[in-house]
Amino acid sequence: MTCLLCCKQLIKEMTISDFWFFHKKKRVCSYCLSKFTKIKKHICKRCSKSCIEEICCDCQKWQKLYPNYQFKNESLYFYNEAMEEFMQKYKFYGDYRLRFIFAKEMAQRLKKYREWVIVPIPISKKRFSLRGFNQVEGLLLASGICFYSALMKPFDREYQSHKTREERLQTVQPFLLTQAGKSTLYHKKILLVDDIYTTGRTLFHAYGVIKEALPKKVQTFTLVR
Ligand SMILES: [Zn+2]
Ligand SMILES: [Zn+2]
Repeated sequence: MTCLLCCKQLIKEMTISDFWFFHKKKRVCSYCLSKFTKIKKHICKRCSKSCIEEICCDCQKWQKLYPNYQFKNESLYFYNEAMEEFMQKYKFYGDYRLRFIFAKEMAQRLKKYREWVIVPIPISKKRFSLRGFNQVEGLLLASGICFYSALMKPFDREYQSHKTREERLQTVQPFLLTQAGKSTLYHKKILLVDDIYTTGRTLFHAYGVIKEALPKKVQTFTLVR
C-alpha cells in the first residue's frame, strides 16, 4: 500500500484498525497529511472561517439576505496550497482514489449527525459525464456515510471564476428538490454536505430549495473552508 499523494510506502505507518476497517484504512502518509491545515480555534461560529470576531462579515451579509435562517456550517480544513493541489487532482483530473484521503476524519466528524439526513450538493449531468463521479458523494461513500440525494442540478451556469464576488453572490437558483425529497425530508434534521465553502452561495441556494420540504433544521458541512 502506498500514499495516494506521494506514493511512499505506508506499511510502517499502519495500525491494526487500518487493516481491519476499510473506510478507516490509511491512504496517505503522515507527512502529506501534515500539509493540510485542520480548523481549530479562532473561527466564525457560523461558517468556520478563520476570524477573530464571533460572526464574520460574510455571515453578517448572509444574515441580511436570509434573516430567518439560523445558519451553521462546520468544516474540517482550511483552504491552502496542499488543499488546492488535492482539489485539482481529485476534481479536475478526476483521480477518484483520492476520495479516501479524508475518509477517516470525515467519518469521525460526522458521527454526531447520525440522526440527521445527509444531503450532498449535486453536480449537473454534464459535469458528471465529464468527471465520472460526484466528488461530494465520493467523499461520503469513502467515509462509509449513508446519504440521500434529494437535490438535482439541471444544468451548469457559466463558469464563475471571472466574475466578481458580488456577481457570484447574485446568481440564480441552480438546484431543484426532487418530488420524493419533499416528503422524505419533511420535518427532518438535514445536513447539507459540500466539498468546499467558498462564498457560501451554493449552500444558501441549496437551503433555499430544501426549505420547501419544511425540514426541522438545516445545517451544513464542508470538507474545506
Ligand atoms: Zn505521502
Ligand atoms: Zn462566518
